[in-house]
Amino acid sequence: STTLADFDPELARAIHAEEGRQEDHVELIASENYASPLVRAVQDSVFTNKYAEGYPGRRYYSGCGNVDVAERLAIERAKQLFGCDYANVQPHAGAQANAAVFLALASPGDTVMGMDLAQGGHLTHGNPSNFSGRHYRIVPYGLDPATGLIDYDEMERIALATRPRLLIGGFSAYSRHKDWARMRAIADKAGAIFWVDMAHVAGLVAAGEYPDPLPHAHVVTSTTHKTLRGPRGGIILASGQGAEFCRKLDSAVFPGVQGGPLMHVIAAKAVAFKEALQPGFRTYQRQVLANARAMAALIQRRGYRIVSGGTDNHLMLIDLSDRPYTGRDADAALSDAGITTNKNTVPNDPRSPFVTSGLRIGTPAVTTRGFGVAECERLAGWLCDVLDALGDGTHAQVAARIHERVVALCREHPVYR
Ligand code: PLP
Repeated sequence: STTLADFDPELARAIHAEEGRQEDHVELIASENYASPLVRAVQDSVFTNKYAEGYPGRRYYSGCGNVDVAERLAIERAKQLFGCDYANVQPHAGAQANAAVFLALASPGDTVMGMDLAQGGHLTHGNPSNFSGRHYRIVPYGLDPATGLIDYDEMERIALATRPRLLIGGFSAYSRHKDWARMRAIADKAGAIFWVDMAHVAGLVAAGEYPDPLPHAHVVTSTTHKTLRGPRGGIILASGQGAEFCRKLDSAVFPGVQGGPLMHVIAAKAVAFKEALQPGFRTYQRQVLANARAMAALIQRRGYRIVSGGTDNHLMLIDLSDRPYTGRDADAALSDAGITTNKNTVPNDPRSPFVTSGLRIGTPAVTTRGFGVAECERLAGWLCDVLDALGDGTHAQVAARIHERVVALCREHPVYR
């Protein structure tokens, strides 16, 4: 048997280098996390070989008895974790879960209301470059520029004026609680179906640390790899919507937008949901929140503005629009210091999405590797040191000095080794 290093040294080197990068840099990208060794191992199982179009007990291929066990476990655990009565665990990723909801519940040309990408929404909530924005008539909603908070009054006004088929709640860059009950009331008044994409906060919701959308939404989608810390993937959930509604969702996933499900990933979702049902998962999510609050407080003490003035979840947006450098500059300088963030638009950003005036940072990954408030405060201090240095042009030296400290801190808290 030959090793990957023998057979494909170029690829083996890239994987090895990525292992080193993940161990030795600080990951502050809010949508990333480190899957557990068990989740990773299950994705490497022989389930990857099996075709299983259909659903457990109703497959188009024979030999599906074992994968049926895995998918049933994933479905039952997802329902238990989120306290709901319907779960589809087949979407390959968050975007596919969202595509299936569009297909099941709206027709091309229908009016759909989603949060503007530039104000914190996601591509699949109606951005013109995405299928959602191309096939549906999108009416976006956003933030009150004065507060950085969602403007529910404006949302209601737009919903009543445009009568959307779907109202989408959910975000990729909003640091506050969302008022799901208010959004459901707006949807009801406007005659819309209320759909929440909780991809970013699913782990917090599972742990009871963020408002639960399931009692309010007709349908909920999520990824499984962000705060939820499972394999890359998507899920669709619902509660109390009846068999016909759920059947539509199932047939929108398969055969609507997907073919054969990724059974090795579905099995890994089952493991991740079991992990999320353990008491330690709540402790982890509470630490994610405490770390985010500590970072936001320190960054503000150092004179940087956080959109909306703080955070109630795992992420925050630093507004650099009053600085002489851009979000892209900040992202690059922090990268030189071994700190990975992402440039992000801020509300009413004068710069393009490639340049931006903001940075999004989040704590799920650093918390998984064992950083507590003390480590996160040190980290936030270093981040501000790099930003200060960007302002006075000394960032190359400062980033190099901080990089050494970042590596030392990371080695005290290994991810896998
Ligand atoms: N929905 C939201 C709110 C997201 O933030 C993301 C990913 O960033 C997605 C959906 C898409 O998930 P995926 O990248 O798995 O397709």
